[in-house]
Amino acid sequence: MTAANSAFQISVFPGDGIGGEVIDPTVEVLKLLEKQIGGFSFRFESEKAGAQHYKDTGTALPEDAMKRAEGSDAILLGAMGMPSIRYPDGREIAPQLELRENLELFAGVRPVKTRPGAPNPLGDPRAANLDFVLIRESTEGLFANRGQTRYDGPADRPTAAHDTMTITRAGSERLFDFSFKLAEKRKAKGHRGQLMCIDKANVIGGFYWMRGIFDEMSAQYPGVEPAHMYVDACALNMVRRPWDFDVMVTENMFGDILSDLAAGLMGGMGMAPSADIGTRNAVFQPCHGSAPDIMGQGLANPTATLLSAAMMLEWLGDTHGISECNLAASVLDHAVDLAFEDGKLVPTEFGGTAGTKAVTDAVVARLDDGSARSRADSAA
Ligand code: ATP
Repeated sequence: MTAANSAFQISVFPGDGIGGEVIDPTVEVLKLLEKQIGGFSFRFESEKAGAQHYKDTGTALPEDAMKRAEGSDAILLGAMGMPSIRYPDGREIAPQLELRENLELFAGVRPVKTRPGAPNPLGDPRAANLDFVLIRESTEGLFANRGQTRYDGPADRPTAAHDTMTITRAGSERLFDFSFKLAEKRKAKGHRGQLMCIDKANVIGGFYWMRGIFDEMSAQYPGVEPAHMYVDACALNMVRRPWDFDVMVTENMFGDILSDLAAGLMGGMGMAPSADIGTRNAVFQPCHGSAPDIMGQGLANPTATLLSAAMMLEWLGDTHGISECNLAASVLDHAVDLAFEDGKLVPTEFGGTAGTKAVTDAVVARLDDGSARSRADSAA
């Protein structure tokens, strides 16, 4: 990377299923923004990894691709895994988890921001304007010891299976530090400035201990209101009054489950972006999987991937101090809102007819006619 001239190298992993279908138009949109905004440039390097790659070569994530990804400025990922292709022990191929672990991408950021015209599954008008963030710890918790299940009894008919949850002080401190800072950043933009720790501290000792670390750290962030909620109550309240949330932080498995619930609040998987952020690296990808049921038909909604690319632009802008990247992030975010605003663009996952191309064209039209730029300029 050469931040001095803001030339960024981006590792692109299209992956499996609809992964490539949503990544290709996103890369084109990023190239368009590079041209329209200026002040930064991209070099995209496409990498092969995923379930199909495992089937073809016996390797899910080649070592050299991993190395290049580690040395790049950011990683853009489509989707990985196919239920029909598995490791001999039955697990699905999930190199995106290896990326998270190898690069220590501890903060899984899942913004829950509803877009104009998206279905409102709750029916309440307040749920049409959600804007909160769920942060999922992504390197430890119940996922930390995956692949190391310990069985009791005979190998051909075990009597019990044990999977261990790991929570560390260092992992919790860096997670909470990141989360409090995000709550502070949002507060500066007019949000509530609350950080809620979601756990099961009333039943599991490790969560009680983690909550203590959260409370201890909250003293360092007097501008942020600390709060707690048990995960079961959280699931209920995300359906009952999701407009009350601001920033939530939770363990890996709880975050995995709650982020799919959150995607449902946004109307569908094709609307939910994400970022997995570490100290040096970050992966940006839609929350959805490879969706083999719709692959190859041009039906995939690229919105989640476009919004993940907007998150990438914002992260590059923040970490390298390149304001043009922040502007491009805002322009892309507004282009998505504008594309959906008149209610005529209805993706197939909402029961409409707009497939990948129609959604992309609508977003590109708002970039080309300058309307997204005007909105971004007046919002700044
Ligand atoms: P994973 O476990 O890998 O996250 P998953 O089993 O949760 O994947 P997805 O692949 O995310 O499943 O698909 C869930 C449902 O959402 C499927 O019916 C799929 O067609 C739909 N879906 C997912 N992504 C999109 C998209 N971008 N556009 C339209 N529909 C989508």
